[in-house]
Amino acid sequence: MTNLILIFVFIFGLIIGSFLNCLIWRLHKKESIMGRSYCPKCKKQIAWYDNIPVLSFMVLRGKCRSCGKTISWQYPTVEFITGLLFVMAFYLNYKLQVDNYGLVIFDSSFIIQLIRDWFIIAVMIVIFIYDLRWYLILDIVTLPACLIVFVLNLILGFNLWNLLISGIIGGSFFLIQFVISKGKWIGGGDVRLGLLMGLALGWPGVLTAIIISYFIGSIVGLGLIAAGKKQWGSEVPLGIFLTVGAIITLFWQTQILSWYFNLL
Ligand SMILES: [Zn+2]
Repeated sequence: MTNLILIFVFIFGLIIGSFLNCLIWRLHKKESIMGRSYCPKCKKQIAWYDNIPVLSFMVLRGKCRSCGKTISWQYPTVEFITGLLFVMAFYLNYKLQVDNYGLVIFDSSFIIQLIRDWFIIAVMIVIFIYDLRWYLILDIVTLPACLIVFVLNLILGFNLWNLLISGIIGGSFFLIQFVISKGKWIGGGDVRLGLLMGLALGWPGVLTAIIISYFIGSIVGLGLIAAGKKQWGSEVPLGIFLTVGAIITLFWQTQILSWYFNLL
């Protein structure tokens, strides 16, 4: 029974991932998110059977049926990662309660928390891909997301002051660097992402996420320098590390904190 639910969650995640790909492209092109999917290269509408997450990419061998140009690996990758993270949010954060008949018991806070986690994951994926490709974090993504996670967290019983202070700390951590460097080290989008992380993760989650992000960022940065792909001081989009740090914290905050305090 549980496995069946996980498969459904995975398929749901694939579909959302497909939507996120479309959303990322249309945000970039400043188009409405309504309307049928089309090939970015030849503009031809994509038939439903060519628009099935991951599978269509494999059947078409990564090429558009109409123009034959290659379809970016971003499409199946984002779909698959979204599916995987949706399953992990479902599986990791919640002990499935099963009744006498073996059916999973869903209570309302479980569902709201799941929606909140899926929402945070989806937003972070959009920010990750957008920052990776175009070195930009869009306010049209972060600001509405701030409001939505803030409301969902309040419904879930988060402390109002914890959320507000955490949001301010998350935002001002980057704002200070932004002001000192006159926008050279980080962009204004990172300040709004810091605010979003604060409102999404609360305190001390936001701090955990920032530490993890900088840790991953420095390893990846040193790796890129060692591999000769980047030089000291070259621009690396910070948002990609912050989003990864946020998702890791979302999943394993309790474990990370107890591990850390055991070290002390
Ligand atoms: Zn095409």
